[in-house]
Parts: sequence; C-alpha cells; structure tokens
Amino acid sequence: MSSKPFATPYDYAYFEGKIIPIKEAKLSIMTNALHYGGGIYGGLKIVQTPTGPAVFRLEDHIKRLQDSIKILGFPYKFSAEKIKAKIFDLAKKNKISAPTYIRPIIYRSDLNLSPGIAGDYELAIYMLKIENYFDKNQGLKVCISDWVRNNSKSIPPSSKATGGYINSALAINEARQSGFDSAIMLDKNGDVSEGAVMNIFLAKEGKLITPSLDSDILGGITRRTILEIASEQGIEVEERKVKKEELFAVDEIFFSGTATGITWCRQVNDKQISSNPGTITTKMVDLFAKLPKSHPELFAKVT
Ligand code: PMP
Repeated sequence: MSSKPFATPYDYAYFEGKIIPIKEAKLSIMTNALHYGGGIYGGLKIVQTPTGPAVFRLEDHIKRLQDSIKILGFPYKFSAEKIKAKIFDLAKKNKISAPTYIRPIIYRSDLNLSPGIAGDYELAIYMLKIENYFDKNQGLKVCISDWVRNNSKSIPPSSKATGGYINSALAINEARQSGFDSAIMLDKNGDVSEGAVMNIFLAKEGKLITPSLDSDILGGITRRTILEIASEQGIEVEERKVKKEELFAVDEIFFSGTATGITWCRQVNDKQISSNPGTITTKMVDLFAKLPKSHPELFAKVT
C-alpha cells in the first residue's frame, strides 16, 4: 500500500504579509531557505466539532513553532497572536470545511548566497483539504531504515527544521523502493526513535509503550494527546528507551501524527505484527475521534 495524493490546496495563502491567491505566492530561485533548508514549519488540523470547525491544540502547535525558532536561533520576531490571527483570517478567506490541514512556515527569505542563521525571515501559510493519508483498512507495512534519525549533535530533532526533513525523505524513499509504505527510524544508539514523519507506539500485554523524548524524536502533539487520554482511561503507559528487538515481540504497533492520525501497523520488515488493528489501537482511534466531545477545551473554534 502506498500513500496517495491526499490533499487539495485552497485558493488563498498568506504570503509576504498579505492574503493572496495561492497561484501568485511564488519565491525567487535565489531564496536562501531553498538552498540551505533554513526554515521551520508546523502542521495543524481543523476538525469538525459539535460547535463547528475548530483547530486542534492550536496553542501547543504555536508553542512548538516558537520553541523551534528558539532552538535554531532564527532572528524572527515571533508573535503567537499574529500567527493565530493570520491562521483564522486565512481559514475565513478560504471558507474552509473540516478536515483541513494548515501549513505555516517561517523561512529565511533573503537572497544572500551563503548559509547562515542571520538574515530576513517571512511567515507563509497555506491550507489543504485533506482526505486519508493512508488507507486505514490496510495497515502499514514498514521497514526499519538504515538511515539513522537526526540527533541533537547534528540537526535537533525536537525542532521542525525544514532542512532536517531530508533525513525523513531518505528513509521514506528507502522504504518505498523496497515495497514498504514507510519506515521506522532508529536513533544513534540503535534504539527505536520514531516513524519517518510519525511517532510510534507499541502495545504489549495491555500496556502502551512509546520512545521517550530523549530518543531523538519530535515531540508529537498527537503523541502527547494519546499519552494523556490513555492515562485518563487507566491504560498503563511507558515513555522510555525502546530496543529494536522489542518491535518483534509486541501485540500491536501504531503510528501517530496530525496529517496521518492514528494508523495501525501490519508488518515490520518481513515479520507480521498483526492482521487487524489491535484492541488498544482501536480504543485509541475511538477515543481520539471522540475528543471534540470529551475534551472541547483542546479545540479553538474557527469563527
Ligand atoms: N515526528 C515527525 C518527524 C514529524 O514530522 C511529525 C509530524 N509533525 C510527527 C512526528 C508527529 O507530530 P504531530 O503529532 O505533532 O503531528
């Protein structure tokens, strides 16, 4: 199973301080970020709630953008209020319906030839009408990538640095070329880190296990939500180092991310993990889908 093109762009984007038709939102080939990966981005989702479309965990996503800027030392003057206001203005202009994916990016916009952090930065935002990223019925077949996850001594994985995503791209490419849907990445010590663009969870004997934040992972907002709702339900959760061999002696594996949601794993390398979504995975999918009713405080209404 491979992922299909799953998204259609809306007509308008926020670009260089204005909302303009997305077709006109174009950059010079000399743009510094294009050459050296000097950007950070976010991925947020608008979902349907009983009171209308709303952004899931907006504050947490903005905080992660803010932290990424700080980690990388970009001289961008970050105003959380401005970014939130631009997201809502753009959602209104695009007359969005749920589900919608929101992509804010802050990138080095000057045309200077050399790499470096000092320079000019711009915020841009666009939105996509999304469908299912993966076919949820199939379950993912993943390989364990030979590419090692970025780490804090190279490109900090806790920042969503655009340049760091060549690491994910290599792992995804390796997986697809060998007939897999995606990849699991190990950290520099050979322990389990995360999926190429998703966090990973293992379930064993009723317990939920996920690599800890010091396993060179991105602190996923879906991941955090799963840990919170699992604890509320009395499911035992372990955030810790996960050995590679543990992947083969579990009852269930699933992946989590904003764009992909919770997606179950059928196979790792040549080993079948399960032939159907397991009990805990199904429970988490169900609890996640009920969040607009059970936890309305996590949603910021698009008015
Ligand atoms: N890990 C990586 C490397 C990612 O790019 C993403 C997607 N943002 C995730 C995990 C999942 O994070 P989230 O749940 O916040 O979308």
